Formats: sequence, C-alpha cells, structure tokens
Amino acid sequence: LFNRRAQFPRGNVLTIAGSDSGGGAGIQADLKTITLLGSYGASAMTALTAQNTRGVAAIHGVPAEFLAQQLDSVLSDIHVDVVKTGMLFSADNIGIIADKLQQYGKKIIIIDPVMLAKGGAELIDREALAIFKKRLLPCAYLLTPNIPEAEKLTGFTVSCEDDMQRAAKTLHQMGARNVLVKGGHLAEGTAVDILFDGKNFSQFPVPRILTKNTHGTGCTLASAISTFLAQGEPLPQAVARAKEFITAAIKLAHPLGKGHGPVNHYM
Ligand code: PLP
Repeated sequence: LFNRRAQFPRGNVLTIAGSDSGGGAGIQADLKTITLLGSYGASAMTALTAQNTRGVAAIHGVPAEFLAQQLDSVLSDIHVDVVKTGMLFSADNIGIIADKLQQYGKKIIIIDPVMLAKGGAELIDREALAIFKKRLLPCAYLLTPNIPEAEKLTGFTVSCEDDMQRAAKTLHQMGARNVLVKGGHLAEGTAVDILFDGKNFSQFPVPRILTKNTHGTGCTLASAISTFLAQGEPLPQAVARAKEFITAAIKLAHPLGKGHGPVNHYM
C-alpha cells in the first residue's frame, strides 16, 4: 500500500459542524465523505455531542471566540474552495461564522440547516434560528433542508411535491441562491429531491430504501455535493453524483450498535 505512487487530493473543503462521538454524523461523517471522494477536508467545531447510534446524551457547545480562532487558523493559511456548514448550535456561533465567511471572501457555501438529531434532540436553539435566517441563510450558495427543516424555516406545512417547490421558492426569496429540498421525509413512494436555482426546478428521484441505518445521511449528502463542487463540477452534476453516492451509501449501510447505524463511507 505504501509503495503506491502518492495520490493528492483535488480541491479543499472546510466543514463547520458538530462532533458526533459515535462517528456516523457531523464532522466525522463530513471528513470521511470528503476523503473518500478525493478532496482534502479541514474542520472547525461548533459543538461536541456525546452520542451513539441510539441518540444524543449530551451537548457541549464550543465558545464562539474559540470557533473564531479555528476559522482564522484555517482560512488564513489553507486555500478553501468550498465551505460546508452543519450543526451550528448557538446564535453567537452563527454570527461569528457569517462574519468570518465575509471577512475571508468565501462564496461557495453549502448550508445544511441541521436542527434536529434523528432521535429528536434539538441541535440549535430558538434564538439561533432567527439569527440563522437573518445572517447565514442569505450567504448560501446552496441550502439543503429536509422537509422538517423546510417547514421550520418557512413556517408552512410541506406534505407534497408542490409544497416542496413552494418552500424552495420561499427559501430562495429569503436569500439562498440555490435550494435543494430533500423529499426523504414525505410519506410514501419514490423519494424526490427538488433543486431550485431561482428560475428552474430539477427533480432527483430515487427509489425509497427501507432501512433503519440512515444516521449521517444529511451530513454525508451535503459533504458529497461540497466535494464535487470543490473538484469543479457544475451544481446540477454535483447534486446528481452526490445523490448516486448517498443512495449507495444507504443501501450498503452496515449495522453498528443497537440503534440507527451509519451510512457506508467505505465504498
Ligand atoms: N451534526 C451532528 C453533530 C449530529 O449529531 C447530527 C445528528 O445526530 C447531525 C449533524 C444530523 O445528522 P443527519 O445527517 O443524520 O441528519
């Protein structure tokens, strides 16, 4: 293995997110995905979770000043092509992230508006949601809400594809340049994700996979899109390839622990 010719990563991605001690979601899922798909991953932590496949036992937020130090350390030294955000935890963290992305002129920002863990634990507080809408959402090159997140951000119910399109339009009006509303939470049939670029809608349908091992799905998808963008793919292709990847990663998810196992990062 070590005699092979060195492979170098193509493109650099910075993930700003929370740590999942169980290794299936958050920063850990992001770095595994970015590495597997061939880019370099740097990270800035917003919070630490004590977590396993059964749920979140505790959350320890990172002080915003220390998050700022992590962002300065990375962004003043390492060329970052794409920034991806996940669990942000607090209003102070969100303010710092918006300030730093502006200070360093970062433009390709993929925002996964993480709000709830699968087990129901709140990963962002109420005050933070308001600041998120005001300060960070308008910085998004791409926003990737699932249905509950789209509902929380827009304030209306999303229960069919027409509602998903309406939510995507509203989120675009709120400032996100492109919006990918993920349909996995809709009740039945094919799972369709809808991409809106401000003019046109594209559909990404995939057959629904029945499995309990979906921990880290959202983090992994947003990281895969970020990685393909860092490698120079246009957005629709980056989304299409990331969807192919996450579908395989869910199909090949391995049972781990007693709860929801992680998607597969070893393909
Ligand atoms: N980020 C962290 C740190 C988490 O703990 C979780 C879920 O538990 C998530 C993000 C969201 O996970 P998923 O990708 O399954 O939506």
